[in-house]
Amino acid sequence: MTSAQRSYNMSRIRAKDTKPEIVVRKYLWSHGYRYRLNHPRLPGKPDVVLRKFRTCIFVNGCFWHGHHVVCGEVQGVQGVSEVQSSGCCKIPKTNREFWVKKITRNKERDFKVQQELARMGWHCITIWECQLKPNIKLATLEGLVNTLSKIFLADHRIKKYESEEPELCMVAENTIEYGN
Ligand SMILES: [Zn+2]
Repeated sequence: MTSAQRSYNMSRIRAKDTKPEIVVRKYLWSHGYRYRLNHPRLPGKPDVVLRKFRTCIFVNGCFWHGHHVVCGEVQGVQGVSEVQSSGCCKIPKTNREFWVKKITRNKERDFKVQQELARMGWHCITIWECQLKPNIKLATLEGLVNTLSKIFLADHRIKKYESEEPELCMVAENTIEYGN
């Protein structure tokens, strides 16, 4: 990656509304999905929050979030040799150690945030910038909507059982457990 490309990437990531996010939002909105942006009370301020689906969507830039980058150890930063760059996240040769640390930290943070959200009962979906390239954009977005439908069905099935008739459920369970 040239330094010009790098600063271009940086400027895009720093901007609040990076283009890949807008692509995802527009698609969801035009398909009837309603959402919140950068929910301030949720860990990691997810890019898109779909309350009805209890789902957070992160639209990640491949460079900053280290798409396909394999870190030797997720905790401590290991030597640069343990990092493999992919086509969409080329870690610069200049100042390499700095970039490895930075991207590793970002990946660790992403991981922790999603773990925390999962503990809070949220589903997390990550969409990578490279998955929104023109030739595969539509497939990615259709896949996203498909995943959301599956999440909704799965959650709804369980929650309906748990929340709509809680007392009845408990009685039934007790009956089965102690009656037999
Ligand atoms: Zn990528």
